[in-house]
Amino acid sequence: MTYVITEACIDCVDGSCLAACPVDCIYTGERMFYIHPEECVTCGACEYACPVEAIFHEDDVPADLAQYTLINAEFLAPLGSPGSAKRHGPLHSDHPFVLARPTC
Ligand code: SF4
Ligand code: SF4
Repeated sequence: MTYVITEACIDCVDGSCLAACPVDCIYTGERMFYIHPEECVTCGACEYACPVEAIFHEDDVPADLAQYTLINAEFLAPLGSPGSAKRHGPLHSDHPFVLARPTC
């Protein structure tokens, strides 16, 4: 199980969730952040830290945001499992779906 970052994070990226995550599994894209589904320990701390309610447990992702479960996983899949977003550093890119979203 994992948590999922969704649409409201796009162009917000304040990073409050990073400080809340005990296992450093939230990776930095250019327009939004992404949770690594294999590294997330499903603690829920990030959900409460996010000021725009962009983060959901994967079982609770609203239907109109359902694609973000795959978006988080697909975007991070090429990394394998680095084990630390800080050590890995920012990705300077985004999932194609996110790149195509209008700016807010
Ligand atoms: S649920 Fe916990 S482990 Fe998973 S991304 Fe959020 S803070 Fe990190
Ligand atoms: S706290 Fe919310 S809006 Fe801010 S970077 Fe994290 S997911 Fe995005």
